[in-house]
Order: sequence, then C-alpha cells, then structure tokens
Amino acid sequence: MARLAARGVTPGLAVVLVGDDPGSQTYVNMKERDCARLGIRSFDRRLPADTPQTELDGLIDTLNADLDVHGILVQQPFPKHLDVEEVVARVSAVKDVDGFHPENLGRLMRGLPGHRACPPWGVMRLLDEYGVDPRGKHAVVVGRSLLVGKPMGLMLLERDATVTTCHSKTPDLAATCREADILVVAIGRPKMIGAEHVRDGAVVIDVGINRTDAGMVGDVDYDAVAERCEAITPVPGGVGPMTRAILMSNTIAAAEEQTR
Ligand code: NAP
Repeated sequence: MARLAARGVTPGLAVVLVGDDPGSQTYVNMKERDCARLGIRSFDRRLPADTPQTELDGLIDTLNADLDVHGILVQQPFPKHLDVEEVVARVSAVKDVDGFHPENLGRLMRGLPGHRACPPWGVMRLLDEYGVDPRGKHAVVVGRSLLVGKPMGLMLLERDATVTTCHSKTPDLAATCREADILVVAIGRPKMIGAEHVRDGAVVIDVGINRTDAGMVGDVDYDAVAERCEAITPVPGGVGPMTRAILMSNTIAAAEEQTR
C-alpha cells in the first residue's frame, strides 16, 4: 500500500451483486468494510435480480475499462438466468481478484503466477503461518468445486503433498479422510465431518460456512474432532477471515500490476 500511495495510486475494488440473497449481501458488506479499513476504494454495484445478461455484460465491460478499478468481483451465486461461464470469462483476467477466470485457473494448473482463488489460497497461507509444511504429507480434500476443492488440490500438489480429492460419490468417505495428515473440508453440510473421519494428530481445515438455527457452523463437528487433531480451524473465524484478507491482498497486487 505504501508503494502505491507513493505513486499516487489508490487500489480500487468493484463488487457487483445481482439480486438480494441475504448471505451474499452480508459478504459484500463485509468486503466493503474491509476495503474501507485498508484504504481501498470500493465501487458498489448492486443490480436487481432480473437484470438481463446483456446489462451485466455491459457493466463488466465498463469496469474492465475503468482505470480506477483494479479488481472486479461478481458475487456468487448468481440468479439462475445468468450464464456463470460468460460472466466469469468476461471479467478481465488481470482484474479477476477472485481467481475464477479460466486464464487464472489455467495459470494455477501450469504453475504460473496469476490471481488465485481466495479460499484455497487463504488455506495455504494459514498452513504456512502455522508451520504446517504439506511436503510429503497426505492431504485429503473433501469437495471438488471450482471455487474451493479443485484449486485446493492443485495448490497442495504444487507444495508436494500427495493429494486425494473426495466428493459425493466417494464410497467410504470416513476411511479416506482417516488417511489424511491434512484434511481440508469444503462440502457445505453442517458438522458432517466427525471424529470417525479424523485420525489422531491430523491437521483439519474447515472451509464450510453453514447458517443454521444455532448460528454459523462449519462442515466439521469442531467439538467432536478438536481433541483428536493437532490443529483445527474454527467456524466462525479461521478460513473465512483469511479468505477476505486474501481478496484484499489480491486487489493490492492487481493495482501494483496495472500501474507499474
Ligand atoms: P459446492 O460447490 O456446493 O461443492 C460442494 C462439494 O462437496 C461438491 O464437490 C460435492 O460433491 C461435495 N459433497 C457434497 N456432499 C457430499 C458428501 N455427502 N460427501 C462428500 N462430498 C460431498 O460448495 P463450495 O462452493 O465448494 O463451498 C463449500 C463450503 O465452503 C460451503 O459451506 C461454502 O459456504 C463454504 N465456503 C467458504 C468460504 C470461506 O471463505 N470460508 C469460501 C467459499 C465457500 P459433488 O461434486 O459430487 O457434488
């Protein structure tokens, strides 16, 4: 930030929200608060749920061309009539601070620099901060979404872990999870992972965020698992705030890249 300030550059993040999903509104509000705290200029673009694809495309084109906007985030999930692939590919790859653009996913696959998806990149930062080296470890990732599971597996592989990816068709999930030195869970089902999924001494990363009547919980039953493992991330806390921090860091990096 200091380097940018010295050059008279204020990083800018455009957050586009289509529709009025309450969860998405909360995320967008939090991101805008993060921007304000760090001195990143945020451009709030909220559109009605029935916004046509052509109008959203036009807004993305405008933001792509705006020199004050260095990062663009289109909050997911979108209303069903919008084409996710079209939206994701339309955002300029250099402004794609979410790391969803096919070019950035391809760069990850090829081991090249580029914006990386925030949740898994945040998990890698957490592992580093806590001195957990993936090298030579067996990492089991539960979930294979483009947002979390797939890039997570690639990032762990890049750091020399032996990676297994599980999903809804994995026959004996508990047995596979018990083989993990590092278990990363991104399913979207409250407290689905219990003590029977975790071997003693494992490191457990819970990416899940589930809103229940009892409040926000992860995909891991924290109380059941915590005593078995070496380390575990809590929900709330843990991966969520780290993901937001990575988004800010990607935006600052994007501003540096675009104003060099
Ligand atoms: P998603 O797109 O719905 O993917 C869920 C994955 O879990 C799928 O691959 C699915 O398998 C798998 N799965 C579902 N049921 C399963 C089961 N019974 N056994 C094994 N695997 C199962 O979700 P996502 O976007 O990856 O998000 C996952 C969770 O992370 C959600 O709770 C989300 O809110 C949270 N999240 C948190 C952050 C953060 O910052 N902390 C960021 C993003 C997402 P199939 O592919 O076979 O269907």
